[in-house]
Amino acid sequence: MRVEEKLYTLRYKRDERPHLSVKDNATCQKCKEVNGEPQPCILVCPANVYTWDGRRLVLSYENCVECGACRIACPYQNIVWSFPRYGLGMSLRYG
Ligand code: SF4
Ligand code: SF4
Repeated sequence: MRVEEKLYTLRYKRDERPHLSVKDNATCQKCKEVNGEPQPCILVCPANVYTWDGRRLVLSYENCVECGACRIACPYQNIVWSFPRYGLGMSLRYG
């Protein structure tokens, strides 16, 4: 089963308050120069939360599956991440 098919089995209850953000866009610029494109956070995210628009990182936080991989992969600890508030965010459709 492909990742996209797995993601289809999830349900999302959107938290209007983003549970993840980037601390400093200048650090992401530096990261792009050092690590190239796609940057580490884009590479590891299974849910395509991060995209690079050529100048900055764009976050589709509502698609996050809360795996935490981006926090570990970012070489600059530039991601602020917490779980969505209780009852919001991702839930499994089958248990
Ligand atoms: S890995 Fe970290 S520093 Fe690099 S682009 Fe992603 S958030 Fe920015
Ligand atoms: S926690 Fe996982 S799914 Fe969410 S943004 Fe980070 S890598 Fe992507």
